[in-house]
Amino acid sequence: MIDKPVQYLKGVGPSKSKLLSRLGINTVRDLLSYFPRDYEDRRIVSKIAALAHNQKAVVMGKVELTEVVKLNFSLSVLKAAISDGTGIAYAHFYRKINPYHKHDIFAKLKKDFLRGATVLMSGQAEIHLGEKRFNPEEYEIVVPGPAESLNFGKIVPVYRATEGLSQKWLRKAVNSALENNLKDFWDVLPVAFKERGKLEDIETAVRQIHFPEEPQNTESARQRLALNEFLLLETALALSKTQNKKISKQYSYKINRNILTPFKNKLGFELTSSQKKVINEIFADMMNSKPMTRLLLGDVGSGKTVVAVSAMLLAAENRCQSALLSPTEILAEQHYLTLSRMTEGLPVNISLLTGKGKKKSEKLKTYGEIEDGKADIIIGTHAILEERVKFRNLSLIVIDEQHRFGVLQRAVLQRKSANPDVLVMTATPIPRTLALTLYGDLDVSIINELPPGRKPVETVFRDEPAAYDLIRKEISKSNQAFIVYPLVEESDKLELKAAVKEAENLAGSVFKNHRIGLLHGQMPAKDKEKVMMEFRSKAFDILIATTVIEVGIDIPDATVMVIEHSERFGLATLHQLRGRIGRGKEKSFCVLLGDPKTDEAKKRIQVMLSAQDGFTIAEEDLNLRGPGEFFGTAQHGVPEFRAGNMVKDLKIIEHARAIAGEIIKNDEKLKNADNSILRTEMLRIYSGRFGLPKIG
Ligand code: ADP
Ligand code: MG
Repeated sequence: MIDKPVQYLKGVGPSKSKLLSRLGINTVRDLLSYFPRDYEDRRIVSKIAALAHNQKAVVMGKVELTEVVKLNFSLSVLKAAISDGTGIAYAHFYRKINPYHKHDIFAKLKKDFLRGATVLMSGQAEIHLGEKRFNPEEYEIVVPGPAESLNFGKIVPVYRATEGLSQKWLRKAVNSALENNLKDFWDVLPVAFKERGKLEDIETAVRQIHFPEEPQNTESARQRLALNEFLLLETALALSKTQNKKISKQYSYKINRNILTPFKNKLGFELTSSQKKVINEIFADMMNSKPMTRLLLGDVGSGKTVVAVSAMLLAAENRCQSALLSPTEILAEQHYLTLSRMTEGLPVNISLLTGKGKKKSEKLKTYGEIEDGKADIIIGTHAILEERVKFRNLSLIVIDEQHRFGVLQRAVLQRKSANPDVLVMTATPIPRTLALTLYGDLDVSIINELPPGRKPVETVFRDEPAAYDLIRKEISKSNQAFIVYPLVEESDKLELKAAVKEAENLAGSVFKNHRIGLLHGQMPAKDKEKVMMEFRSKAFDILIATTVIEVGIDIPDATVMVIEHSERFGLATLHQLRGRIGRGKEKSFCVLLGDPKTDEAKKRIQVMLSAQDGFTIAEEDLNLRGPGEFFGTAQHGVPEFRAGNMVKDLKIIEHARAIAGEIIKNDEKLKNADNSILRTEMLRIYSGRFGLPKIG
């Protein structure tokens, strides 16, 4: 019964079940897993005489009198005098009146509030000139008999509701599900662990999270249910990791140095010790017979690209192909140029594959080179993931700016070759809880220093004239500047300055003696390429752009970043944008323009003015927005947790991880009867993610 459509639950039916499905509730189990967003303690009934102004309370009394008063053309109020022996309170029910409707909007209230009836009400008390008023949020007519109320006299759950489903109705539905189906609400935690940890029954936890007997029960119930949620995820991750470690790759590498050594010599800078350390970790993985699955963490500008290039050149030295996946076309093009420059004169062929703007014949040629192995390094966007792209011997996959991709895409690319090495890179520093939940199946390398000589970027909140002065000053020192706008086309509604129009304006006025370039997402790929190339070669001084330049773009001579309407951007974007400057030896400036109206927007700008490093900014972002927004977790292949909190439940996640590790160690295929529920449920939720399942 518990997995049957919720429609068949007593008192639900087809029309209510449609409304429930809006809340994501389709089965009885879903309903039982629909945990309250809050609680109200309605155990104590207050005496009317003791009510204070603005007090939230529950009162009970007899209806003495009701009257409807018309307040104006469209608003009326029903007042009900309620007495409890200590005093009288007037319950006020305001209703909008539609004069064209004959239906009496107070009919239901009049029927309920009959003279002499006993009512229970929860809501807010007010005192006006000695008169006690009560604004009821919920009420119930007390009928004699043993039936226990779900809405009064106890701690009452408050659910996220939707139009047509009241709190009272939801409580009744949940209660009915609890009465008849709770015994089938299985526990994914194997019995042995439950006994060892002296953990409460899952049935108790479900009951207490909906209708707690004591306020403190809700938290322990939540933790117990969160443990189950995290156990499912951690088991999936642990399984995926052990599977990866078991398979052997088809390629073996030797360090020949015929490419790597000349590459290092012509690089023009010394690798930082962090870069050397992570390159060693990556090479060790690549030389190992098991495929690499490694995450490379390093703040913007820390020099992840050379690390990736080194790994790809090791593959090339062994006549194997590697692919570099970028989130945007411009970044793919930049990587193509950088790599071509870095490997000039070396026996390495590099191909670029992006979605838009290329002639069909050119594309076909590229596909051919990838398939027959002529291309050693393939750089591209999502276009690489397409079915028709076939590799000859793809042995290494690098994913740049992993936070822009989902876990799923990692899996798609992995399928392009038998057991390739995978390196994912991200500049998003993540708290440990999130690292464990999102990347728990990966080994981690960290670049924790910036290349020498970098000066912190000075960030200020100023007006346009000041920003333009600064740009002029920097250009006179033969540096370059970015001006970033949120949109491409002008939009009346948002009243934002659009990049296209503003580029023309500025070129004709403030900067008429300077050279200006324009870059936005809707330009053909060829034009974008040309603009970036010209900017890099200093054919112009100022690049006016949209956020297409957000990630990865590397122009070492750019020392000013002006961000228009900075209040419109999220912290992650602002940090990435600012990361475009301060990449050379000169001091750089980031000027935030705009008019932050909300507290959150003000706070974001404050954070940018005071914090430099990505870690602090990521934590602030997480505080401001919560994990779902922060990561687009659904996109990462991690479901939303109902009981668990990805930010705060580090202890529970670690506990779940330890249990998952132990289970998989002793029962790698989850064949034991004790683990069968865990197995079924884990596969139901996670199969197809993280390359699962291949068990059985
Ligand atoms: P990110 O980690 O953000 O991808 P990049 O790889 O784009 O950073 O590197 C940022 C800039 O720093 C590039 O111009 C790159 O050439 C330069 N760089 C990288 N490593 C070093 C180093 N060890 N010394 C000096 N400059 C470096
Ligand atoms: Mg980068």
